[in-house]
Amino acid sequence: CGIVGYIGHRKAYPIILEGLKRLEYRGYDSAGIALFDGKNLKISKTKGKVADLQKKLEAEITTTGNLGIGHTRWATHGIPNDVNSHPHCSNSGDLVIIHNGIIENYAALKKELTKRGYTFKSDTDTEVLINLIEDIKLKENIKLGKAVQIALNQVVGAYAIAVFDRNKPDEIVIARLGSPLAIGVGEDEFFIASDASPFIEYTKNAIYLEDEEMAIVRIKKGVKIRKIKDDTVVAPYVQELQM
Ligand code: GLU
Repeated sequence: CGIVGYIGHRKAYPIILEGLKRLEYRGYDSAGIALFDGKNLKISKTKGKVADLQKKLEAEITTTGNLGIGHTRWATHGIPNDVNSHPHCSNSGDLVIIHNGIIENYAALKKELTKRGYTFKSDTDTEVLINLIEDIKLKENIKLGKAVQIALNQVVGAYAIAVFDRNKPDEIVIARLGSPLAIGVGEDEFFIASDASPFIEYTKNAIYLEDEEMAIVRIKKGVKIRKIKDDTVVAPYVQELQM
């Protein structure tokens, strides 16, 4: 399973697609992509291989957009099918997530959210998490990063996630506990991936997120890292990748 993301001035699609191919070695049963051009959100996902996704996607959607996230899924909650594939959206359609890992207490969270009027299209734990984030964000009227942080503190499990908000086309929020995540730092562009292989030809500067850390990755503003548990700010440590 794997995660790839891009935000910057390039077309996100080829970077995400090629990145997913490079992460195929990690194993998966489904693949999906979300592309956002600031106005239109396009999501395509399928059971099967990245090559199947490519065929489906190029027939289905236009591939414009400077923000994109892509995912290969190793199903843990819900069978491998198109609907359970990632990305998943919140009920409002504004928030989009990809997730590797498991939300162990998803059933209790889902029950609570269902009581509050939320509905679910898939059988995944991931769709529960994105709606929990949305519920907190709307209830508390706070920024996405803060809502992600509060939600993750209610979660038992393991994860690498990438989330964005249609209303904030310059930002991707990521977090990890138990699954790897790297940020490639370019000139006014950022790459996100399970390992550095999807971005090595674009930048040699990488930040590896530690467990229990989250990052807000924003065009022009850079990378802000903090601890998920206690909000401590962490200075980003940029490593130079060797070929
Ligand atoms: N638990 C999530 C699901 O079943 C993510 C699985 C993964 O790591 O790809 O959809």
